Amino acid sequence: MQTNEFLNAMILTELEDAVGVENCSIKPIDKVTHSVDYYWLSRMWADRGRRMPEADFVVAPKDAQETSKVLKIANYYKIPVTTWGGGGGTQGGAIPVCGGIILDTKRMNRIYEVNTEGMYIECGTGAIYKHIEWAANEVGKATMHYPSSLTCSTVGGFLAHRGIGVVSTKYGKIDDMVLQMEVVLPNGDIIYTSPAPKHAAGPDLNQIFIGSEGTLGVITKAQIRIYDQPEERRFRGFLFQDMTGAFKASRELLQKFKPSVMRLYDPAETASLIKKIVGVEREGAFMNVAYEGVKEMVDVEEKILLDTFKKYGAEDLGSEYGEKWWEEKITFFYPGHMMDIPQMFGTMDTIAPYGKIEEIY
Ligand SMILES: Cc1cc2nc3c(=O)[nH]c(=O)nc-3n(C[C@H](O)[C@H](O)[C@H](O)COP(=O)(O)OP(=O)(O)OC[C@H]3O[C@@H](n4cnc5c(N)ncnc54)[C@H](O)[C@@H]3O)c2cc1C
Repeated sequence: MQTNEFLNAMILTELEDAVGVENCSIKPIDKVTHSVDYYWLSRMWADRGRRMPEADFVVAPKDAQETSKVLKIANYYKIPVTTWGGGGGTQGGAIPVCGGIILDTKRMNRIYEVNTEGMYIECGTGAIYKHIEWAANEVGKATMHYPSSLTCSTVGGFLAHRGIGVVSTKYGKIDDMVLQMEVVLPNGDIIYTSPAPKHAAGPDLNQIFIGSEGTLGVITKAQIRIYDQPEERRFRGFLFQDMTGAFKASRELLQKFKPSVMRLYDPAETASLIKKIVGVEREGAFMNVAYEGVKEMVDVEEKILLDTFKKYGAEDLGSEYGEKWWEEKITFFYPGHMMDIPQMFGTMDTIAPYGKIEEIY
C-alpha cells in the first residue's frame, strides 16, 4: 500500500496512542540508527555514505499488550513490521527493507523472576543477554549461553536466530535453554507456549518461533534455563598435524561424552588468529577442549580425552592456551582482533553430518 503524508500522520497518532508519544519516533536519526545492523552489506553501505532502507516509524512497546496494539495497527493499514533487538544480527534480519514499522524491543528488558528451584530466569526479550547472566551469577548460577555478541544482543535476538554459544556442546543451543515463551502473533493475539517444552503430547510450539527471525511473531517474554556453576572447569589445548585426524578424534570423543567446548582451527587460522590471540606459535591445527562439572566426573572425562586424542597423534599442549582462549572467548570478533572497515568480512555457520564434515570443509 502507498502511504502519504496524511495517512502517515494518522498512523503515527495511533502508534503514539498505543505506546506513548515518547516511545514512538519519526526522527531521521532514529530511522538511520535502525537501518544498519552487523550485516556486512549494511555496514559497507554505511561506510560508503549510502543509506540503507529506513522505516517510517520506530516504536518501542513496553510489553505484550502494547506490542499487540502495534501489530493490530500495522495489520489494519497493511504496513510491514520488522522487529529490532540489539541490532547485532549478522544476516540483515532486522533491516526494514520494505519500510513500515521498526518494533524496537529494548523497553521490554525487565527481569521478572530468578527462580533457583525451577532453575530459570523469566525476562522480557529486550534484555541484553549479559544482563540475565549477571542476574544468574548473583545467585551463584549461570546461563551457560556465551556467544561473542553476549554484551550487545538481546534474549529475543538469540531466540529469533537460534543462537549458539561457546559451551553449547555440553549445555545445548538456545532452543535447549528456553522453557516458556510469550509471543505476539502477527494478528495481535498473545499466546504462551508450554512451560514444559519436552512434553509428550503435541508439537513443541517454541520450535516454530525459534529461528524464525521475527517473521512469525514477536517474542516478548521468555523463561531461560540457568545452571549450577561447575565445580571444576578444565581446559586442554591440542595440536593436530592435519584436519582429518582432528575430525576423527572429535567424532570419537563426542560418542563418549560431551565436553563443554570443542573448537578446532585449521592450520591457516592457527597461524593467524590463534597465534595472535592465544599465543600458539606452532604449525598445525589447534583445538581447544573444555570439560566441566563434578570433580570426579571431570577426572574420568580427562582420562578419556587424553586416551582418545593420543590415538590420533594429537600433541597435548596442556591447559595454558585453553585458559587464554577462554579469557578471550567473546573478544575474537572485536576491533583489533578481526578485520574492520574498510576491510569487510561476513560470517556464516553451517552444519553437516560426520560423514560430510571434511568434504564441506
Ligand atoms: C561480534 C558478533 C559476534 C557474534 N557471535 C555470535 C555467536 O557466537 N553466536 C550466535 O549465535 N550469534 C552470534 N552473533 C550473531 C547475533 O548475536 C545474532 O544474530 C542475534 O540474533 C542478534 O541479536 P540482536 O538482539 O542483536 O538482534 P537483531 O539484530 O536486532 O535481530 C536479529 C533477528 O532477530 C529478530 N528479532 C529480534 N528480537 C526479536 C524478538 N523479540 N522477537 C522476534 N524476532 C526478533 C530480528 O527481526 C532479526 O531478524 C554475533 C554477532 C556479532 C555482531
